[in-house]
Amino acid sequence: MNRDLEYSVRRTDKSPISLVVPVFNERMMLPLFFDRVLPVLATLNRRYEIVLVDDGSEDGSAGYVRSLIAHDPDIRLVKLSRNFGKEAAVTAGLEHARGEAVIVLDADLQDPPEQIPAMIERWQSGAHVVLMQRRSRCGETVFKRWSAHLYYRLLNRTSRTDIPVDTGDFRLMSRKAVDALLTLKERNRYMKGLFAWIGMPTQVIQYDREPRAAGETKWDYPGLVGLALEGLTSFSVSPLRWATMIGLIAASIGGVFGLWIVAKALMLGDATSGYPSLVAIISFLGGIQLVSIGIVGEYVGKTYLEAKQRPVYLTDEVVENPVGARSQIGEKPVEARRVKAV
Ligand code: UDP
Ligand code: MG
Repeated sequence: MNRDLEYSVRRTDKSPISLVVPVFNERMMLPLFFDRVLPVLATLNRRYEIVLVDDGSEDGSAGYVRSLIAHDPDIRLVKLSRNFGKEAAVTAGLEHARGEAVIVLDADLQDPPEQIPAMIERWQSGAHVVLMQRRSRCGETVFKRWSAHLYYRLLNRTSRTDIPVDTGDFRLMSRKAVDALLTLKERNRYMKGLFAWIGMPTQVIQYDREPRAAGETKWDYPGLVGLALEGLTSFSVSPLRWATMIGLIAASIGGVFGLWIVAKALMLGDATSGYPSLVAIISFLGGIQLVSIGIVGEYVGKTYLEAKQRPVYLTDEVVENPVGARSQIGEKPVEARRVKAV
């Protein structure tokens, strides 16, 4: 059967959906998360699974999820062997998700679960990717907003893949889109870029990003700068070209300046002055060289990491309720499911 047709046939009112939730030290958040997510899922009237990926939490998050699984066949836990970072955790979740549509959302409720029905509606009407675009960023500093804004624009200037502005990992993907994404085997997983790279019919829903409900963000500025560099160098080789261009410009300026000094010495006999300008030029060129070597190094390092072919993450264990494990996303009829107050 034609694969497209196959997918569209499966996209029915009853097609099961998966939620993929990366979890890193979110013990305080998890009860609030389930309190808000379960009622929304209950209104969908379709089968679902919640795949929580424990990214090496040390605060008992995994134990808490395990206790929930004992009573709820719709929850599954993929426990990674250590902290691999959100990008790897999301990849692990996508690999384990079995739904016909997969929604990725954060555990800290910054991605409002109330948007899920609208996302599913778009998916049912034919979209393979439903992107959630932030209209506002409550609870974030002016500097973070401004730097994010600037960064997305820089990123889109440099890469050929159009990475949508102000979107994060919060999105719905059809089975076809997830399968496509999972064919990308690179180790440097800059998810925003990978998501964009696959293309596919996409619809955008705007939403207001909420402040984190509890706990603290796992990102600090060095981490964000690292992610930003990762994005720039994963999706474009333009920085290498910039290095060449800057080198050419600096060399031209140096050449013209040199000629001028020679001319001046010949005409005015003024050969010895200019020591400060010499120091300035040397440090300017030295700086350019170091930056250029750094840029080249960034790419060499990436090649090295890819060449090692290590897996993106390692799973410690997958925990699921025996009822859920026996079937595809639980066998219980929807009517029989109760929403638990957790
Ligand atoms: N997260 C993760 N591994 C990490 C860091 C974060 O799985 O190494 C998860 C975290 O538990 C949360 C989501 O990724 O569910 C987003 O993290 P956070 O809220 O700290 O990031 P921000 O919203 O500030 O970008
Ligand atoms: Mg957050």
